[in-house]
Amino acid sequence: MKPATEQEFAQAVVAWQRTHGRHDLPWQATRDPYRIWVSEIMLQQTQVSTVIPYYQRFMARFPDVTALADASDDEVMQHWAGLGYYSRARNLHAAAQDVRDRFDGRFPTDPADLESLRGIGRSTAAAIAAFSANARAAILDGNVKRVLSRVFAIDGFPGSAPVERQMWALAESLLPEAVDMPAYTQGLMDLGATLCTPKRPRCNDCPLQTRCEALRLNRVAELPVARPRKTPPRRAAVLWLIVDTSGRVLLEKRPPVGIWGGLWSLPQTEPGQAAPYGIDGKGLERFAMIEHAFTHFTLEIDVQRVELARCASQVTEPDGLRWFDELELAGAGVPKPVRTVLESHLAQRRAEDAALPRAAR
Ligand code: SF4
Repeated sequence: MKPATEQEFAQAVVAWQRTHGRHDLPWQATRDPYRIWVSEIMLQQTQVSTVIPYYQRFMARFPDVTALADASDDEVMQHWAGLGYYSRARNLHAAAQDVRDRFDGRFPTDPADLESLRGIGRSTAAAIAAFSANARAAILDGNVKRVLSRVFAIDGFPGSAPVERQMWALAESLLPEAVDMPAYTQGLMDLGATLCTPKRPRCNDCPLQTRCEALRLNRVAELPVARPRKTPPRRAAVLWLIVDTSGRVLLEKRPPVGIWGGLWSLPQTEPGQAAPYGIDGKGLERFAMIEHAFTHFTLEIDVQRVELARCASQVTEPDGLRWFDELELAGAGVPKPVRTVLESHLAQRRAEDAALPRAAR
């Protein structure tokens, strides 16, 4: 097995399309760029079987671009109703008027002219040009991205700008010389739609199986790379490390549901709130800033330490709170970031004690 070379790749796609691809779709019997354009726009977010009756009705009412351009908005929308994504119909109508006014009613076949019309992107422009004028232009719709990312084992999310640039360059480099461009273009689309499907691709029937790097590397299921998850939102909280005169630490029992449900934790407040339990600011110091990643958000935790020995405040045991000595802290069920804070605090205390002169201990 070897990576596909341009000509081999194109020949395999064209040969397969001629024998196994789709040939009898209503928009395949024409080279009229107007009719091809309407089908391409309808197919952008809608399945072939849904599109067919809409396409036939649309073509019966708007047989050429001028008929569409001269129609009222209401009538165009009425013929689109049910297909969804209605901005497609509005763009279609505006582009038809543009063709009537700017191109004298002759639908362009040059990819750059096509791209200048509303609602036509680079891949759609290339498809219309290839089908209507045998133009040597590369397409890169979602189906083709999937095929290329698997055949060439392309890492990275295909929707990201750098990977998309890489794929456009690859699609361009694969363009064959002197080949049936409609068959090549249709073949790539058909491969992605019928064999190289997102789930359970039919690799045994695929004309590219001996050239497919994803198949060779057993990476078909992981390619193309899925859209990266969004960076989780950030939240902030203050945890209070309150230490009494005998070195005990105050912990509160978390409610049974919610984060850290049922565990013992340091008392928590929102950022900017005053210290709890009427503690004054004298014995207060920032002990640490830590981050903890939950499934849906990241918590930025400001840990404030309060040494009651250094302030005038007295804290008893409010409801749901308890003083823990060092031994009890070791056995308490606390969340991981709180455990880290406690261990760090205890280590610091031990180091301070060890530094004291013997008589002062
Ligand atoms: S061999 Fe399988 S994964 Fe590779 S292109 Fe064909 S269908 Fe897709």
